Amino acid sequence: MADDPNDATPFLPERRSLKALREAAQGCRGCHLWRPATQTVFGEGRRSSRLMLVGEQPGDREDLAGKPFVGPAGRELDRGLEAAGIERRDAYLTNVVKHFKFEQRGKRRIHQTPRRFEIHACTPWLEAELEVVKPEALVLLGAVAAKALLGSSFKVTQHRGELLDSELAPIVSATIHPSAILRQRDDAARVREREAFAADLRVVVEALGAV
Ligand code: SF4
Repeated sequence: MADDPNDATPFLPERRSLKALREAAQGCRGCHLWRPATQTVFGEGRRSSRLMLVGEQPGDREDLAGKPFVGPAGRELDRGLEAAGIERRDAYLTNVVKHFKFEQRGKRRIHQTPRRFEIHACTPWLEAELEVVKPEALVLLGAVAAKALLGSSFKVTQHRGELLDSELAPIVSATIHPSAILRQRDDAARVREREAFAADLRVVVEALGAV
């Protein structure tokens, strides 16, 4: 791994369209994470999307399907979007890191949080997605995405659901990653977190309505 590069930049295509980016990302070898993973999981959605949501990295299901947010966390995201009054197909969904990082334990692949150098290596893809889509609203899902784009001192727990001052997009906000709902200890806590997540998304949807 010491010989692996830590930068996706050389793999970015000259032509900046979502199709060209998605195709080029399939061949990215910008860090070591591509080796054990099944495939690159690039962002999904239309260039004209007004809302972009950015998570941490694909999970087990996403790695197999090649699509973001199709596993259990994706279902929570769908519920949150629906409760906030926005359709999934109207949003652009992506992750900070495009390959699944995991530890193999028996037959199970256990999610591992990407490290800073891996996030740094993969950021050029996200920057290119932002450049092409130019969303009016950007929502960062979870601490990894929020810290990657807003700085390492940003705390989701303190600032979730706030409209933030950032040059990334006219409307920028952060909330939990939907997988955090699944990790709650009981049903009551899950319901509370689900409602809080939807409320955070609603703030952004309402701000979009006001643009
Ligand atoms: S994680 Fe990102 S930088 Fe690393 S190989 Fe995959 S697409 Fe490239």
